[in-house]
Amino acid sequence: MMVTDLHHFLDLPADTPGPARRLAEQLSNIVRAATAGDAGSAWETALPCPRRPANRRCPGRIIVLRTEPPAPIRWQCSVCPDRGLISNWADSPLDLRPRRLTLADPVNQIVINHEVAAALRELRLLDADCERVVFRIRAHHNGAVLPATDDDLEELIGFVAAEANHESNRRRQPRLDTAFNALNNAAQAQ
Ligand SMILES: [Zn+2]
Repeated sequence: MMVTDLHHFLDLPADTPGPARRLAEQLSNIVRAATAGDAGSAWETALPCPRRPANRRCPGRIIVLRTEPPAPIRWQCSVCPDRGLISNWADSPLDLRPRRLTLADPVNQIVINHEVAAALRELRLLDADCERVVFRIRAHHNGAVLPATDDDLEELIGFVAAEANHESNRRRQPRLDTAFNALNNAAQAQ
């Protein structure tokens, strides 16, 4: 059981070594997913397990459970024994709990693959509402499911398009284009 205090991982100095930086990123994503999704019941996110037992990637996804603060966020891998607790998450910059009530527009359940889900998590310019949509993505037997209203989807497509237009990295550019096409097709299918 890995017990961590989120405050130790926020604002890491620029010279932080790779393993600590990757752990911080993993914990950040868990906190974002746990706070973007519903409280009170455990659910399986689209976040991949980072473990590599015997040099093979663990195929598990991270299951999260969040209750009311100050209770720590609980997480565990869906396949391997990896699990942990994260305290001091509430009101951190990674806390995506909605600050206002939103109207209950119908929510579409959009099936995407894990590459698209990963590309969406890497978007740098999302506002908090879109970030919440991205980190609510949950695991699904065909890949991942993005729960989004028509408005959520339209906003997200706007962010992906803007970032794809300005991306000069040859590795990221096609990932963003793929994500854009997947969301656009989903929007047209609604
Ligand atoms: Zn695992």
